[in-house]
Amino acid sequence: MSPRQPAHIKRDESFRDSISTVDKQGKRVWVYPRKSHGKFTNWRSRVGYSLLALLFIGPFLRIGGEPLLMINLVERRFVFFGQSFWPQDFVIFVIGFLTFIVFVALFTVAFGRLFCGWACPQTVFMDQVFRRIEHIVEGDWKQRQALDKGPLTGDKVRKKTLKHVLFFSISFLIGNTFLAYIIGSDELIHIVTGPASEHTGGLFAMLAFSGVFYANFAFFREQACTTVCPYGRLQGVLLDRKSIVIAYDHVRGEGRGLFRKGEDRKAAGKGDCIDCKACVYECPTGIDIRNGTQLECVNCTACIDACDHMMRSVGLPTGLVRYASETEISDHKPFRFNARMKAYTAVLTVLVGVLITLIALRSDTDSTLLRAPGMLFQTQPDGRISNLYFLKVLNKSHDHLPIQFRLLDDAGELKLVGKPLELEPGALGQSELFVILPTDALDGMRTKVTIGVYTGDRLLEKVSTSFVGPLNTAH
Ligand code: SF4
Ligand code: SF4
Repeated sequence: MSPRQPAHIKRDESFRDSISTVDKQGKRVWVYPRKSHGKFTNWRSRVGYSLLALLFIGPFLRIGGEPLLMINLVERRFVFFGQSFWPQDFVIFVIGFLTFIVFVALFTVAFGRLFCGWACPQTVFMDQVFRRIEHIVEGDWKQRQALDKGPLTGDKVRKKTLKHVLFFSISFLIGNTFLAYIIGSDELIHIVTGPASEHTGGLFAMLAFSGVFYANFAFFREQACTTVCPYGRLQGVLLDRKSIVIAYDHVRGEGRGLFRKGEDRKAAGKGDCIDCKACVYECPTGIDIRNGTQLECVNCTACIDACDHMMRSVGLPTGLVRYASETEISDHKPFRFNARMKAYTAVLTVLVGVLITLIALRSDTDSTLLRAPGMLFQTQPDGRISNLYFLKVLNKSHDHLPIQFRLLDDAGELKLVGKPLELEPGALGQSELFVILPTDALDGMRTKVTIGVYTGDRLLEKVSTSFVGPLNTAH
C-alpha cells in the first residue's frame, strides 16, 4: 500500500503481474471497448483526422521540388522538409537522433504518454478509422460480443466480410503511402501505372506492407502498444509522481460505492466513484484506470469522457478521472518543473543548438581531395612545384550543379586536367587537377593548400590538403 493511500483502501496489485489482454492460460483476451463520446473524444477526432490528412498528402507535398519527407533506404537518400540528406551527413543524423531521444524523454517525464493518445499512428488509426468501421459494420460493444460468440450465420459472414474487405482496402492505402515515404511518390505512381512485370519488387513491397498493416489493425491491435512498442516499455523508467498522466483521483473517488439517489455519500463514508465501471468498459486496452498508472494505458482519454459523463448524470463534479500528476492528487501540489526536467532541458538545448549549427553550416556538396597515390611532386620547367590531386564531389543539393575549382591561395595556380564536372542532384563526380606553387610559397615539405569548390561565383565548400615539396624548400 502506498504511504499516501487512505487506510480503508485495500489494494490488490496482482493485476500488475500480467497484462490485461492475456489470460492466465496465456490466451488472448479480445477487448470490446464501448464507443466513447465526449469533449476529449471530439478533440482527438479533429486532431486525428488532421494528422491523417497530413500523413496521406505528405508524400505528394513538395518544397523546392523535393518531398516534405522521404526516407529512401534503397538510394540512401533522406528528405526532411525539402532538404536532402545523404549518408555523408552522418553526424547530423546522429545529433538529430540524440536530440529526438532527449526530446522524447523530456516530453514523457513532463507529460507522460500524451503523444500515444493524441498523435501515435497506431492509436489514431485504431480509434479514428478501424474501430469506427467496426462500430458502423458490427455495432457497439455488446453487439460485437454477441456477433463473435454467436453461430456462423449469413449476417455474420456478410458483416465480417465487409469489415475485413474495408480493413484490407485501408491497409492497402496505408501500405502505398508508407511505400511513397520510402521510395518517393513519383516512383510509387510509376509502379502503380507501369506494367506489373517491370515492377515485381515494388508490387511485392506494396502487398507486404499492406499485409503487415492489415494484420496489425485487424488482429494485433492494442497489443502493439502493450507488448511491442518500445516507447510504451520506457514509461516505467521515465514517469515519476510529478509526470502528468491520465489519472483517477483516488483521494476524491475512494471508497467507491454504487450511486443511490438522495443518499449523502459523505455521511455514508463513500467517495465520488460510483463504481459504474464506465471507465473500464470504454478502455481500449481493457484496464481499470482506478488501479493507478499502468503500462497498458495509452492515455487515450476515453475514460475521462466516460467518467465525466457519469459524474454529470449523477450531479457530481467532473474530473474524477483527468490529466493530473500523482503529487497533484495525493499532495495537492500543482505541476512543477523538477530537477530531472531541468537537466533534460539543458541537454536538449545544447543538442538543438549543435544541430541547428550543423544544418546551417552544411554545404551543398561533400568533397574529398586526395593526392594521387604513389606520386610525391613534380618540378615544372619554370622551377615551380606541382602536385596531382583527385577531387571527388557529391552534389547533396536538389539542383543541377556545374562545378568549378579555384585555388584559394594567390601565389599558386590550379590546372584542371580531368573533365569539368556537371553534377545532377545526388550525383558523385571525380576530376583530376594539378596545384602548382612557386618554391618561395612552400612551407617545408608539407604546405597546406585550400581549394574552393564553386558553382558560378558561389563558393560551395572549401577543402584543404597538404602539398608536398622538396626538402630543401623548408624556411
Ligand atoms: S485507462 Fe483510460 S486513458 Fe488509459 S488506455 Fe484506458 S481508457 Fe485510455
Ligand atoms: S467512470 Fe468514474 S465513477 Fe464510474 S467507475 Fe470509473 S472512475 Fe468510478
